[in-house]
Amino acid sequence: MIMENNESKMVTIHVMGKSHEVPGDLTIMKAMEYAGHQFRRGSGCRGGYCGACATIYRTKGSYKLLGALACQKMVENDMYIAQIPFSPAEKKTYDINDLRADANAFMVHYPEISRCLSCNTCTKACPQDIMVMDYVQAALRGDVSEAARLSFDCISCGLCAVRCPAEIVPYNIAQLARRLYSKYVDGPAEHVLEKVKEVEEGKFDAEIAELQSLDREALKERYETREKRL
Ligand code: SF4
Ligand code: SF4
Repeated sequence: MIMENNESKMVTIHVMGKSHEVPGDLTIMKAMEYAGHQFRRGSGCRGGYCGACATIYRTKGSYKLLGALACQKMVENDMYIAQIPFSPAEKKTYDINDLRADANAFMVHYPEISRCLSCNTCTKACPQDIMVMDYVQAALRGDVSEAARLSFDCISCGLCAVRCPAEIVPYNIAQLARRLYSKYVDGPAEHVLEKVKEVEEGKFDAEIAELQSLDREALKERYETREKRL
């Protein structure tokens, strides 16, 4: 049922089977909080970058389950919503120095990518509009640069992995591709090397010591008034 108020249209959402009237200009996350739910897990940056708030939903009359980030997707009337368990970051352990930037690096650690069916389900599931199947295929043929380029915006939300019929975990492939690219194709970033040198030379020691001496309230105050870089 849709109702009007002075601020915004109210819509009805259904969270784990319970119906709630919420303002229609909220994200799923804010609407769930408006309805009284508290996020202890499954929320992080709230800005679409951390990938923690993967959510599934469907709309009235449709059997299709859709995925989204709860902090980004706006509610719709008669949206049926369920949070899904977080996607585990169970990547293989490897020493990047022992690998080469080729297909073998992927096949040794993630041999399941050879099962890719080219079904494109992963691409359709991605809330970041990433060409997921294409980066998996690029990894499979050893094109590290292309795999790293295509997966650059991946936030490891896991929505592709939970839909893959071949049980491939694309975000692990993406992470390995970007590491190989950084190590063997692009080379180390000069500004990062400079910053590491400054850390090792103790440039930030006094600042860190001061932060460590602050109590909880003072830390909160410092956080609230921090310089924000967009
Ligand atoms: S969903 Fe899995 S099998 Fe299908 S294209 Fe993506 S990685 Fe390949
Ligand atoms: S590629 Fe997969 S893990 Fe990365 S953002 Fe897209 S759906 Fe999420």
